[in-house]
Amino acid sequence: MNIDFKNKRALIRVDFNVPLDAQYNVTDITRINAALPTINKVLNDGGSVVLMSHLGRPKEGPAEKYSLKHLIPVLSTMLNRPVKFANDCVGTDAYKLSSELKPGDVLLLENLRFYKHEEKGDKDFAQKLAKHGDVYVNDAFGTAHRAHASTAVIAEFFNQNKTFGYCIESELNSINKVLNNTQKPFTAIMGGAKVSDKILILKQLISKANNIIIGGGMAFTFVKAKGGKIGNSLVEDDRIETVLEIFELARKNNVNLYIPIDSVVADSFSNEAQKQTVDINNIPDGWMGLDIGPKTEKIFAEVIADSKTILWNGPMGVFEMSNFEAGTKSIAQAISSATENGAYSLIGGGDSVAAINKYNMGDKVSYVSTGGGALLEYIEAGSLPGISAILN
Ligand code: AMP
Repeated sequence: MNIDFKNKRALIRVDFNVPLDAQYNVTDITRINAALPTINKVLNDGGSVVLMSHLGRPKEGPAEKYSLKHLIPVLSTMLNRPVKFANDCVGTDAYKLSSELKPGDVLLLENLRFYKHEEKGDKDFAQKLAKHGDVYVNDAFGTAHRAHASTAVIAEFFNQNKTFGYCIESELNSINKVLNNTQKPFTAIMGGAKVSDKILILKQLISKANNIIIGGGMAFTFVKAKGGKIGNSLVEDDRIETVLEIFELARKNNVNLYIPIDSVVADSFSNEAQKQTVDINNIPDGWMGLDIGPKTEKIFAEVIADSKTILWNGPMGVFEMSNFEAGTKSIAQAISSATENGAYSLIGGGDSVAAINKYNMGDKVSYVSTGGGALLEYIEAGSLPGISAILN
């Protein structure tokens, strides 16, 4: 961010979509933390700050449970100054508050999604929001894949006076290290429930990665496509053809595609189920694979240990259940050891971030992305609406 914000009002799109408990206390401040460097840069330069964000998915206009006013106590503490609040993100009262800001002042606007116009990317609404600032700063990576009023459309009302905040800047640097300035070997680890969600990204990664590791529920469609017997495991029969194409693409591109060879199977989808470890191609009828097995863990860990760049999205099993978390935990450990030995590791996508945090390994990997969907879409498409709006 090479803008001097002295005496300027920065209108910053942040991602304050934080979890609240029943008493409306913020239960996880990660996203607020991620916005602090940008806010502090503006304040230290001698500028003032107008913050705008969405919170949750309000359906019909304003709702107490989705009000951003609940963030004021924690935000004031974290910024070490009072935070003003506008009950409506546009309108006379809001403009009065933003126009009276002095250097060092911070104003938070009410939830943008109380207006349908936000998600529709309404141009008039974007123009109304734009009145709050001299400079537009987009620092909400988590919504950069949406062409909403505040994330993309608004940028056209700021000519050259627009920029990314530090949070988006560091996300872009991290993606760049993985996809463009890649130290080889590059290993992408994909897991999670469904192949259908990951097809586009897998196809993109085949042109970039040296190794692709497949785990989680999605692995069983790969196993079945190769003729394995998968019992009651999760499968997408309508994706068998696609999976065969992925095998073929990997072969043509000299990418090593690793799928599990053994699995921890259960007789029901429950942490209390009976379990056993079996060859993944011979899962008994009535049993379902809920984690990768120890032989697979070992192979995957060896590939990871030999990698210089690592991208991880999606758990290796049902890691929410303690009996089926070993595979995911072993991958997290392998990535943290490889990172310690000099590899660059990027973790992105809701559940792998949840996993890395569950095992307290957030600071043992190189970068944990703040935007799961946005990261995956960036890899798939090579850009995002919220990014190109600033660059254009
Ligand atoms: P995704 O949102 O696609 O990344 O999927 C994450 C979810 O996949 C997690 O909630 C996991 O519990 C689930 N998952 C991972 N492995 C399996 C499996 N073998 N069978 C069923 N669900 C799984």
